Amino acid sequence: MTQMSITGKKKVAIIANGKFQSKRVASKLFSVLRDDHAFYLTKKNPDIVISIGGDGMLLSAFHMYESILDKVRFVGVHTGHLGFYTDYRDFEVDELIETLRADKGESVSYPVLNIRTTLADGRVLTARALNEATIKSIEKTMVADVIINHVQFECFRGDGLSVSTPTGSTAYNKSLGGAILHPTIEALQLTEISSLNNRVYRTIGSSLIVPKKDKIEIIPKRLGSYTMSVDNKTFTHKNVAKVSYQIDPKKIKFVATPRHTSFWNRVREAFIGEIGHEI
Ligand code: NAP
Ligand code: MN
Repeated sequence: MTQMSITGKKKVAIIANGKFQSKRVASKLFSVLRDDHAFYLTKKNPDIVISIGGDGMLLSAFHMYESILDKVRFVGVHTGHLGFYTDYRDFEVDELIETLRADKGESVSYPVLNIRTTLADGRVLTARALNEATIKSIEKTMVADVIINHVQFECFRGDGLSVSTPTGSTAYNKSLGGAILHPTIEALQLTEISSLNNRVYRTIGSSLIVPKKDKIEIIPKRLGSYTMSVDNKTFTHKNVAKVSYQIDPKKIKFVATPRHTSFWNRVREAFIGEIGHEI
């Protein structure tokens, strides 16, 4: 197809995980959208990315297209229970197709985390996370200075620390005892991973919610290897000098769909289920 003939069409990428159910949804979407002149299916520079699987699949889709966050919009189909980044279930594909046909480009956007790692040799590595980034020491207890907005806050001792986005607050952050943050609150959450607290060592103990524009810096005090995670990816770095965390200037955009339910509904459905009325 020539460049001319795709002008005016919505460029759509369909990304699915390996589950049988996901592949089935993907092939249905593929055949319907391929035969519709309003759409052009391509993995290159899409306007819309349809992620089929779960929240984990949407994390992968985000990382595939993180260099074009400005222009791309995501929409998720969950082949399982309803997720946090997914508006549609696998049996609602027809509704999704209707939404895509009626779409006028509206979006809902959420904050993304920017991570800047400085190594002892001066190299700087940057990354973006949709859920969270963590740092843990492999060999020994992690000892690190925690600096919040240029204030030396504490010397942390423990397994490690997690910095989560608002939408990531229901993921690993929640397992660590962090609070659930509504995604319209543009803030980061710093949460401890097994901190050491006794007569000698002291950390704040609770998680901290840091406003937009404030920078969180972690300066490891010991040389050695650190395991650093960014969403579903893990890296090992030797001699980490400093890690800085801030809200990224770019946000992730989702297609604004009529199925986009209230955040509190999602939280209830994911963690509470049906509300019992027995006394
Ligand atoms: P995974 O180990 O296969 O799945 C982790 C679980 O977290 C899945 O059930 C996933 O949902 C769910 N999840 C992902 N993002 C979420 C969110 N924003 N809110 C609520 N639940 C969410 O790994 P993965 O699928 O590649 O996902 C990587 C994520 O796992 C990391 O970003 C981290 O947040 C999380 N994680 C959690 C722990 C923990 O709780 N102890 C430890 C390590 C990592 P789906 O089933 O819909 O994919
Ligand atoms: Mn998963």
